[in-house]
Amino acid sequence: MSARDWIDKDFYRELGVSSSATDADIKKSYRKLARELHPDANPGNAEAETRFKAVSEAYGVLGDPEKRKQYDEARRLFGSGLRGFGGGSGGFDVSDIFGNAGQQGAAGGGFSGLGDILGGLFGRRGQGSAAGRPRRGADVDTEVRIDFLEAVKGATVPLRLSSPSTCGTCTGSGARPGTTPRTCPTCNGAGLINRSQGAFAFSEPCRDCRGTGRIVDDPCPECGGDGVSTKSRTLTVRIPAGVEDDQKIRLAEQGEPGQNGGHAGDLYVRVHVTPHAVFGRSGNDVTITVPVTFQELALGTTLTVPTLDGKVSLRVAAGTANGRVFRVRGKGVVKREGTAGDLLVTVQVAVPAKLSEQAQAALAEYTKATSGQDPRPELTALLQQRSD
Ligand SMILES: [Zn+2]
Ligand SMILES: [Zn+2]
Repeated sequence: MSARDWIDKDFYRELGVSSSATDADIKKSYRKLARELHPDANPGNAEAETRFKAVSEAYGVLGDPEKRKQYDEARRLFGSGLRGFGGGSGGFDVSDIFGNAGQQGAAGGGFSGLGDILGGLFGRRGQGSAAGRPRRGADVDTEVRIDFLEAVKGATVPLRLSSPSTCGTCTGSGARPGTTPRTCPTCNGAGLINRSQGAFAFSEPCRDCRGTGRIVDDPCPECGGDGVSTKSRTLTVRIPAGVEDDQKIRLAEQGEPGQNGGHAGDLYVRVHVTPHAVFGRSGNDVTITVPVTFQELALGTTLTVPTLDGKVSLRVAAGTANGRVFRVRGKGVVKREGTAGDLLVTVQVAVPAKLSEQAQAALAEYTKATSGQDPRPELTALLQQRSD
């Protein structure tokens, strides 16, 4: 089948749904039609058999969100103008371009976009038309949100993913359980047929098996013959200690399954970290600001400071400046390779919004006792110059 046939065919009409139908509607409509038209239910009825095949073919494309997208795109781009362009009147037929582009994958210069779209329709992505070749599964992107302490210490989080995976009912063969696909007699299982037209010789995906090399007479009821069904799976993902907000983690071979023995794609997890009410991060160091009173800094004290997993005592000497940062070694982010950041403790004077009369009186006494002290001698000196 040439690319033009694909685009000319109205798979939506074949399934009796509108082009805006949901995936569920398409599946439902296909199942209904497949039941009605199934050869077992219509022995000797050639028309029903033809319709049955057409419906299966339509579902083979529309039932796969990826293929459906490409089909829609191809129809949008080329659907209306196609007959006028190719015309079937000899010359350079559009389907020649499609055949070449599909065969050579994305290497075909200006037509690489076409090759992509149609390569996707005929098989999966680019070299799809070569049946049986191992193909790596697609990479999958997902996101997860963890809290601050999980990010610091590392965490094992369950991750729910919806992605195509090998159909469990037919174990990926696409055939109804108990039946097996047969080798396509048209292409002898190659998935490609060779054609020449004028000066052009090219291969194009076999129309009878849609480039797969196999024919499924009795499609699996679960996946409609694709061998792939959308499944939710729950993965347990290990987030390493010290992950930063918005960091992307790659999990090798946890993406979509490969085909024909190919490796699975990778899973990329973007990690969002919910900030902590008390702790902050600066690289591998953990930060904390401890409110203190003026007299604690002036007279000295011992502060008890929470750490990530316990507490430490912090000796504050008399006369410590407001805003000073203390470094507690090894109490930051501990990486797997053994390196550890520090806990950075900032002391910050908290000024009471309200004072009792007794406290006010005590402070007035204090002011009197320290009246000879100027907290800002440099400024005083500068102001003195200004007034001269
Ligand atoms: Zn199946
Ligand atoms: Zn074939």
